[in-house]
Amino acid sequence: MKYRKLGSTGLEVSVLGFGGSPLGSVFGPVSEESAVECVHEAIRLGVNFFDVSPYYGNTLAEKNLGKALKAIPREKFILSTKCGRYGDGFDFNAQRVLKSVDESLERLNLDYIDIIQCHDIEFGSLDQVISETIPALLGLKRQGKVRFIGITGLPLAIFRYVLDRVEPGTIDVVLSYCHYSLNDSSLEGLVPYLKDKGVGIITASPLAMGLLTESGPPVWHPAQIEIKEACAKAATHCKLKGHNISEIALKFSLSNPDIATTLVGMCSSQQVHDNVKAAEELESVDQKLLDEVKEILAPVKNKTWPSGKPEN
Ligand code: NAD
Repeated sequence: MKYRKLGSTGLEVSVLGFGGSPLGSVFGPVSEESAVECVHEAIRLGVNFFDVSPYYGNTLAEKNLGKALKAIPREKFILSTKCGRYGDGFDFNAQRVLKSVDESLERLNLDYIDIIQCHDIEFGSLDQVISETIPALLGLKRQGKVRFIGITGLPLAIFRYVLDRVEPGTIDVVLSYCHYSLNDSSLEGLVPYLKDKGVGIITASPLAMGLLTESGPPVWHPAQIEIKEACAKAATHCKLKGHNISEIALKFSLSNPDIATTLVGMCSSQQVHDNVKAAEELESVDQKLLDEVKEILAPVKNKTWPSGKPEN
């Protein structure tokens, strides 16, 4: 497994990060036993970065991850969870967020959280996040309950909006999703700005939440039909050439040295094995096939979908 520095945090994270949302049974039912087993297998194979949220499975993902991590020495993993998004909606109020962190610590069986992230801030007021949520998290940092602070969301403009308005060093990391994959790599435009600020970059959903898989996206996927059709065409093309598009998509996302870690949602040991294998063979890419896939996806390149409040 390769490891990369996460911005200015001093943390070294595995290029393949463990996305914890499937542990909350959000992609289908997952037993506690298989959740624990696949987390242990990921650690055994060198994955050291785990991302979760109280929102995933309405706290179930944190509970399952907590059960798995109980048996693991604390220095073996870096844990990121979130606040502000819950099963019953969004709330970036300072009091709610402070309570939320205490609840996460309990569910995760931990004394401290490495990274606490404000979850999908485009659904709240960005000004409230700046003036209220982040100061509350800075208080927790001083108390030692959290080590680093981040923000997450889909529209790329939210990151610049917040980072332009806080003191340097306040936001340690950003988590962007669906913007660094084969069909949409628009995050590239923001990378120089983030590097300049010393902010660590975490990306998620290299399979574009199922678009870049042989089985296709779930019914709730928000992409327009033309994006879905282009991705399905690319998947079929890869299959005809004897390849799985997910492997190619994963290698593409994990290969960018400016992106510290790429989160993939996993809930079985088989998925852990497949994804670790792809992460360990980044150099072995079929360049001709990659170019063909890029050509198929060119008409929808960097096309995305709306998320959050219109003003954000
Ligand atoms: P994803 O694109 O990683 O897709 C997960 C799905 O792909 C699951 O159904 C999983 O079973 C399947 N899968 C995993 N490996 C596969 C493989 N090799 N081949 C085929 N299918 C495979 O989407 P995701 O889980 O939504 O995102 C990854 C993680 O990133 C999340 O679990 C979460 O931790 C994080 N995330 C955070 C945010 C945010 O903070 N706003 C948004 C999206 C994702």
